[in-house]
Amino acid sequence: MTSAAPAVSGPLIGGDRLTSTSAAVYEHIFPATGRPNATVALAGAPEIDRAVASAWAAQREWAALTVDRRRDLLIGLADVVGAHLDELAELNVHDYGVPISYAGTAMLLERFLRHFAGYVDKLHGSSTPVNGSFDVNLVEREPYGVVGVIAPWNGALAVAGSCVAPALAAGNAVVFKPSELAPLASLRFGELCLEAGLPAGLVNVVPAGPEGGDALVRHPGIRKIHFTGGGVTARSVIQAAATNLTPVVAELGGKSASLVFPDADLATAAMLTAHQGPLMQSGQSCACASRILVHESVYEEFAGLFLAAVGAATIGDPFRADVTFGPVVSAGALERIRSVIDDAVRVRAGVLLTGGQRIGGELESGYYLEPTVFGDVDNSTNLAQTETFGPVVSLIRFRDDDEAVRIANDTQYGLNAFVLTRDLRRAHTVARSLEAGSIWINTFSDISPQGPYGGYKQSGFGRTGGAEGLQEFLQVKNIRIAMS
Ligand code: NAD
Repeated sequence: MTSAAPAVSGPLIGGDRLTSTSAAVYEHIFPATGRPNATVALAGAPEIDRAVASAWAAQREWAALTVDRRRDLLIGLADVVGAHLDELAELNVHDYGVPISYAGTAMLLERFLRHFAGYVDKLHGSSTPVNGSFDVNLVEREPYGVVGVIAPWNGALAVAGSCVAPALAAGNAVVFKPSELAPLASLRFGELCLEAGLPAGLVNVVPAGPEGGDALVRHPGIRKIHFTGGGVTARSVIQAAATNLTPVVAELGGKSASLVFPDADLATAAMLTAHQGPLMQSGQSCACASRILVHESVYEEFAGLFLAAVGAATIGDPFRADVTFGPVVSAGALERIRSVIDDAVRVRAGVLLTGGQRIGGELESGYYLEPTVFGDVDNSTNLAQTETFGPVVSLIRFRDDDEAVRIANDTQYGLNAFVLTRDLRRAHTVARSLEAGSIWINTFSDISPQGPYGGYKQSGFGRTGGAEGLQEFLQVKNIRIAMS
């Protein structure tokens, strides 16, 4: 199986690639083989300090450029990324074993860059009349200066697009922290920023674990944190950000529901929910629909079609173009997910219909787990309530529309929901009743630069994408001029 990734890497700060740092050296493991394939020098507090200083110097340079020049540089960066899509996709595979057939986040990065480049020369403030005087009152929008962007291992290039691109478009410099588990594509993105002619230090890439992440969040030179990851880490980040009252945006996990109504095209619904459930990134996506709610009148028929769609996945080397199902990210993740399955079997959370075992044979050294489906799951169980972040899904029966919405909303999360129906009125009514930031009707989670994305409830706050995503990186200044 292919596993030739870059041998050594480390933080990219102010245009310099460091190969030794104050923090630990991380041995990166290729999840498809379980073997080391890169060594990564992680950033500690001194490197974070240096990155923040270099970002401030670059931000002043960036802010001094004309808007036309900044727009053109971001369009140029999109062009450079576009010319390296294959390389970025391959690094993504090395990073976390995602099948190359799914490694579309490099394309998403390019699209986000083009989208937000288009805002650079259109950003504007406003003026408002001030009651009782003839004064002039201007409302201006300014960059924060230097922002910290923290990414999860499962989508760093998507985060580079949805967070770094608008941060730059708004006039900020960025300290971008990918996870130590998956730093390779992000580091290459940092190099491409330099190749595209962005000022050195405008985008610093600092792979780090919790220690470096904490140093970034607590740094007094960081004016805003954009965090994507899990709820447990988010609580630590918010507490650390309280040190300097640094504002935080949080894009967190989910336990999203797919609602399959009796009038849906069941074959299409089965194909979409299999992709959106256990198959896409082996269920390691924030958007994964891990609870599949099916009307009782079509439950048996749907379950048969769904199991057939799951069973049709091609499991194997993620570098093979025909492979649609790869490993989970690490040995630790494999054990954690297996314990969720074992616990669900033990407490009879539902009926195990397929999967549950580690895959052996020629894949035995990789972290491969069978796509796993439980039927007739009770929504109050741990299996249905906790984000598993692996290829494990629950089928749940419902009797009518009200019950479907009630079960879908009966979770602490609120990231996505999927509605499968041919009835337009039902689709609208149900969509309005669902407590989730994104509702997808008869489609999968096709995240776009134009549509705001983010969570309700414990799936987070703030948005990426569109005008809403840009505003996260701008602060408002009011200027009043006395005219009398
Ligand atoms: P995680 O919370 O373990 O880590 C996220 C990032 O935080 C990593 O870069 C990690 O190194 C860093 N980190 C860890 N401890 C830190 C600390 N104390 N201070 C600062 N940073 C720290 O999450 P993960 O396992 O990398 O990613 C999976 C999670 O991310 C899932 O819950 C998934 O749903 C979520 N996610 C959400 C979205 C979204 O857009 N809503 C997108 C992708 C992933």
